[in-house]
Amino acid sequence: MLKKFLDRVRSIGSKRGHGPRTIEVSEHGLTRDRISSGARKTILGLQEKGYKAYVVGGAVRDLLASLVPKDFDIATGATPEQVKSVFRRARIIGRRFRLVHVPFGDDIVEVSTFRGSGNGGDESQVHDEHGRIVRDNVFGSQEEDSLRRDFTVNALFYDPSTEQIIDYCNGYSDVKSRTIRMIGVPEERYREDPVRMLRAVRMAAKLDGNIEPGTKAPIRAMAGLMSHVPPSRVFEEMLKLLLSGHAKSSLEKLRAEGLLHGLLPMIDLILAQPLGERFLMLVLEKTDGRVLDDKSVSPGFLFAALLWPEVLGAWRKDVAGGAREIPALHEAMDSIIHAQVEKLAIPRRFTTDMKDLWMLQARFEHRAGRRPYRLLEHPRYRAGYDFLLLRCEAGEANQELGEWWTRFQDVSPEEREGMLFMDHAPRKRRRRRPAGEKSPAVTPSTV
Ligand code: ATP
Ligand code: MG
Repeated sequence: MLKKFLDRVRSIGSKRGHGPRTIEVSEHGLTRDRISSGARKTILGLQEKGYKAYVVGGAVRDLLASLVPKDFDIATGATPEQVKSVFRRARIIGRRFRLVHVPFGDDIVEVSTFRGSGNGGDESQVHDEHGRIVRDNVFGSQEEDSLRRDFTVNALFYDPSTEQIIDYCNGYSDVKSRTIRMIGVPEERYREDPVRMLRAVRMAAKLDGNIEPGTKAPIRAMAGLMSHVPPSRVFEEMLKLLLSGHAKSSLEKLRAEGLLHGLLPMIDLILAQPLGERFLMLVLEKTDGRVLDDKSVSPGFLFAALLWPEVLGAWRKDVAGGAREIPALHEAMDSIIHAQVEKLAIPRRFTTDMKDLWMLQARFEHRAGRRPYRLLEHPRYRAGYDFLLLRCEAGEANQELGEWWTRFQDVSPEEREGMLFMDHAPRKRRRRRPAGEKSPAVTPSTV
């Protein structure tokens, strides 16, 4: 009760502009050498011209939570044009809200002008019929910029020159207690942008913390609003979640909180498949491991794996109904991808990768004649092989198949010949068929 009251006073206090809290380095311990040199130089350049400039958002949060920031975003009182006039090589980008990219060697520093909430009848902010903000193009003060951010932990400003943290929303103590707390009234903020529900979970998993009860409470009832978000944004945010290095714990958190259904369009579908969950968890575990080891992760591979149980199910069904193996696989792939892109705009470059990986799976079954040799030369062989091993590990493909390919790719040419299976395909028909076509001996039930 008391806590609720204090929260309310605090949020009113910040809305009325009682001023921010300034936290000195002696308290927070975050020294300027932890900031990338590109970000520091950008800030210094702006400050020398008299503009306010700070590191803001995820980087301050992560550094205070002893995590490694992905990048250093900068917020400033200068307009994009003013930023550009300070840095000759800067480029203004973005349509919905213009940002400036300032290049420093290999580093590109993203600079955004303080944004306002646009409240008070300002036409720069436009809502759709569900209350979602569809345009948001107004500059504001530093305080307004802080208040329009999503969570208190994401609203801290750090000045590398003074090493001070400027805190309008009590975000510092929330980072310390690893609490994800919405700025303002959670229901309203979710209505403005339903993606914030997903972000709450991602941030909680990342900080290994908790979503504050008032911030968590509306999510279950409001999850359906996600369906009004453009598929391209859902994809972007989902990719952030899946590639965060904390994907498995994010999903586990979603499930533990009873929020798994409705928030992530694809996940519902995956879990409805008998194989889905095992695949999902295995893939996420491996992806998290790669991200945390700083290895590359291919979104095409990830989505191919997540949707594989579905493709497999549709493919098997068609083949059982008498369809030919390869055309049936094409059909299954296309229908699954088509169903997905309606909710989740998976870009074409990724769906092409996904199809390649799926097609390769059918080809791993053929272990006679020249086909295995041709497969080894396929440009995506390595990714296809990794995918096959994943299937073996999930218990969906035969362990022996994975082991056979592991050996086949490594042994001498003589041993390879000895490993080949007898070719049972009738010779005459095989000659008439173009290379890479269907073998009657294999059906997806053996895949
Ligand atoms: P990450 O480390 O995963 O990039 P991040 O906090 O930097 O986390 P971004 O998506 O890069 O996340 O966003 C940068 C900042 O912009 C956030 O810290 C937050 O202050 C603000 N922000 C991002 N998305 C929203 C949103 N949907 N609503 C309000 N503020 C947002
Ligand atoms: Mg970021």
